[in-house]
Amino acid sequence: MQYPSQTSRIEISKSAYKTNVDFIHKLLPKNTLFASVVKGNAYGHGIEQFCPMTQEFGIQHYCVFSAEEAYRVRKILQTDAYILIMGHIADQELEWVIDQELDFFVFDFYRLELSVKAAKKIGKKANIHIELETGMNRTGIPQHKFKPVLKYIIDNQEHINFKGLCTHFAGAESITNFHRIQKQKKRFSRAVRGLGRLEMRPKYVHACCSAAAIQHPSMIHDMARIGILQYGFWPSAETLIRYQTRNKLDSNPLKRVLSWKSQVMEVKDVKVGEFIGYGTSFFTNIPTKIAIVPVGYSYGYARDLSNVGKVLIRGKRLSVIGTINMNALTVDITELDHVERGDEVVLIGTQGEGEITVNSFSDFGNLVNYETLARLPMDVPRIVVD
Ligand SMILES: *Cc1c(COP(=O)(O)O)cnc(C)c1O
Repeated sequence: MQYPSQTSRIEISKSAYKTNVDFIHKLLPKNTLFASVVKGNAYGHGIEQFCPMTQEFGIQHYCVFSAEEAYRVRKILQTDAYILIMGHIADQELEWVIDQELDFFVFDFYRLELSVKAAKKIGKKANIHIELETGMNRTGIPQHKFKPVLKYIIDNQEHINFKGLCTHFAGAESITNFHRIQKQKKRFSRAVRGLGRLEMRPKYVHACCSAAAIQHPSMIHDMARIGILQYGFWPSAETLIRYQTRNKLDSNPLKRVLSWKSQVMEVKDVKVGEFIGYGTSFFTNIPTKIAIVPVGYSYGYARDLSNVGKVLIRGKRLSVIGTINMNALTVDITELDHVERGDEVVLIGTQGEGEITVNSFSDFGNLVNYETLARLPMDVPRIVVD
């Protein structure tokens, strides 16, 4: 028996990725580094499949959330690719992080002091990026602690490489946040100027995620931490329209990297006047032909999509009917002449002329792409295709 048997699979398209990398390189100034953000299991694409694929396109810099993700990137790449940890590091992981010469965000005195302690112990310098609190109110050193932090860095220079100064914007993808972002920009720029006066400018000053790189290009600096764009999605409809208007473009220059596919497990006819599946949520008003697909909520196909979801079979956009089960869903195929067991079912992606976008797959609205992608289960196999 072949194992694992796959009720569904996620395909990662190399050619789509190339399109997006080319786009990002054009978007960023020439000497700005593109750091590929691969937190959240590479936005659901799978760190173990996605990262090696990116290397074929010259990517050597990665941003992750945690030490655990850094470990996975390091392990799969088997190179000394640059890795920057933007979030969680458990105290007991810090020595490993320093020993591996990874870069990491420092957003409080606690981690700063612990870094020096760990660096002393293992005899290597800690590569730190000071994250400033400029208004997001998540992690970040508050303004009034910035000077004491710099003094501490100077006093402990033999154990610290001051590699970066950074911040993160609180919703650069929407004009609603305009004033808040303007404040953040001012505060960050003031800190960068201050460092210049002290002649302490680190190698990487960085502030921009995808949305900020499009909406606030003056803030790009030495490195941009780009996530969603590289996967072929826009941070919001607003950023796409802004980009298109500015560049007199009417098409979408990005390509979706990910598709999610399954296959028909069973086909059958249901008489008029019957309920389909559990309960009474779908009733046949006409003789109905259905296909059963072996993907349910335990595989990440949300139960909320009961009677709402759409899939593609034989290039046609078809409705999910009845409730999503734990391991299966039902599709109304009445309008198709012929469907066979084993036919490809596209849950996200394209087939013939049809397309199921991540956005239509979930709800319309801001930021849902991020959530839907990141929630794709870890155990669905990922396959890199051309
Ligand atoms: C997630 C994240 C990014 C990347 O954001 P995108 O919108 O996906 O480009 C950049 N910086 C930080 C600190 C992040 O948490």
